[in-house]
Amino acid sequence: MLRALWQQFDSLTSRDGVLYRLFYDSAGLVVNYQLILPAQMKVPFLELIHADTSGHLKFAKCVPHVVRSAWWLTWRRDLNIFIRCCAKCESFHRGAPHVKPGSTPCWSGPLVNVGALI
Ligand SMILES: [Zn+2]
Repeated sequence: MLRALWQQFDSLTSRDGVLYRLFYDSAGLVVNYQLILPAQMKVPFLELIHADTSGHLKFAKCVPHVVRSAWWLTWRRDLNIFIRCCAKCESFHRGAPHVKPGSTPCWSGPLVNVGALI
């Protein structure tokens, strides 16, 4: 995570002691400030984006909300796993399990603890 942040050092800024990443549009203008999300806030943030505010959106519909709000190195992978392992979405897919055997494990193990607190 630190290496990824270092590589985009010019896009980082601090406001009121909080670290943000500047997100630019294709013209090079700053579109918004993405919060550099601490590791322990990933799951609550993903719950907020996927379920709490909008009612269990698909991956593609969650992406703009994440991009508008926060950034961390593995956010796409984490979002994808989080949605595929959502119990409520899983119960909606009656019958065949949404997560196939042998695929990426659900959100209960090491992913929760991956990443450094910044
Ligand atoms: Zn869900």
